[in-house]
Amino acid sequence: MKSRDYFEISRKIFPGGVNSPVRFYEPYPVFIKKGKGSKIFDLDDRKYLDFCLAYGPLILGHSNPSVKRAVQKKLEEGWLFGAPTEEEILLGRLIKKAVPYIEMMRFVNSGTEATMHTIRLARAYTKRKKIIKINGGFHGSHDSVMVSSGSGMIGKPSSDGIPEESASNTVVVEYNDPYGIENIFKRFKNEIAGIIIEPVLGNIGVVLPDHDYLKYLREITSDNDSLLIFDEVITGFRFHYGTAGQYFNVIPDLTVLGKIVGGGFPLSIFGGRNDIMEQISPAGNVYQAGTFAGNPISVTAGISTLRILKNKDYKELENKLKILGKFVNDVKEDKNEEIQFNSMVSMFQIFFNKNRIKNYRDAVKSDVKRYREFFNSMLKNGIYLPPSQFETLFLSFSHTYNDIHKFGMKIYDEL
Ligand SMILES: *Cc1c(COP(=O)(O)O)cnc(C)c1O
Repeated sequence: MKSRDYFEISRKIFPGGVNSPVRFYEPYPVFIKKGKGSKIFDLDDRKYLDFCLAYGPLILGHSNPSVKRAVQKKLEEGWLFGAPTEEEILLGRLIKKAVPYIEMMRFVNSGTEATMHTIRLARAYTKRKKIIKINGGFHGSHDSVMVSSGSGMIGKPSSDGIPEESASNTVVVEYNDPYGIENIFKRFKNEIAGIIIEPVLGNIGVVLPDHDYLKYLREITSDNDSLLIFDEVITGFRFHYGTAGQYFNVIPDLTVLGKIVGGGFPLSIFGGRNDIMEQISPAGNVYQAGTFAGNPISVTAGISTLRILKNKDYKELENKLKILGKFVNDVKEDKNEEIQFNSMVSMFQIFFNKNRIKNYRDAVKSDVKRYREFFNSMLKNGIYLPPSQFETLFLSFSHTYNDIHKFGMKIYDEL
């Protein structure tokens, strides 16, 4: 049980023994040594089928050989210059070609950085302060977005250390609630810089948009000269070779990409309309900078990943998830379990909840204790999931039909 011993040491070095809070679970998290394809191995060489996939980036699975070769080759030439490189252009053009409405973009290191600068940009462009955010939506951990409150209300800090004043510039509304949005625009006329939203919620489990909800957001933001910002850190290149905006046929003003586009290395991108993006320094007066921004290694991994994804058939992922959904449905019918299977092409979650999940309010009524038991029994059975009911499970192109059946059978046996 090396993980237990290591965790004892880790707790004295890192707060809670981890470097990101979601990684902790009782009694101690499993320490991972290596990964290959759909599998990871812990320090005791125990094997797990991985449906967490580092919380999203690894759509090709672990240690993809082509990505590895590309990065190794790049490493031979050095890894950081603080100067423009050819690779940045290559990746930028790949993104533009896949998503033509991302006319201009900037590379940064993390989703948190990207949404922070996107919001600054939206405020500068519109000369307005207030941002609308969805309850339960996650956009990283900076002050403007670590905010919660009742629907249509001025935000309250959801962490200690965030001034009330920063949170008060964020207005929170329930997902799939167009009337809530309409009321905010009435109440704060000419004050709303933009709406930031995950087109499909992925940080309270998976929650899908109602028909025409995203279209409505496009209309009301345009009508009010506000910007529509799609945070596609999870959804970008997740449903097809492009964005959820394209998938749902709703074109936002600004888009944030992350996770998949770095191929498992730190890289995030924000971009959109030329006239907005040209406000970023040094072209304009909205400041953004980063020592590691657009570093050749992350960018090379991104290029390699996108080139592979371009030739992949996402239908295959969708079909595999359908099979998994059938197993869950069998559990529901044969065993009278109160569960919901929410899924979208390659992301999914099983909610321990008897009702359909449409928003955060519904999601939090789920039985988190049951989920935790489910998580623990899967871990014991060699299946690695995110430890929280409010995270998303992912499928990669390296998961086989066999992997799916194995997971499905375990779900059926254990629930
Ligand atoms: C993960 C995530 C972020 C934050 O990205 P980091 O790279 O972890 O900072 C932002 N938005 C969404 C939708 C995410 O899922």
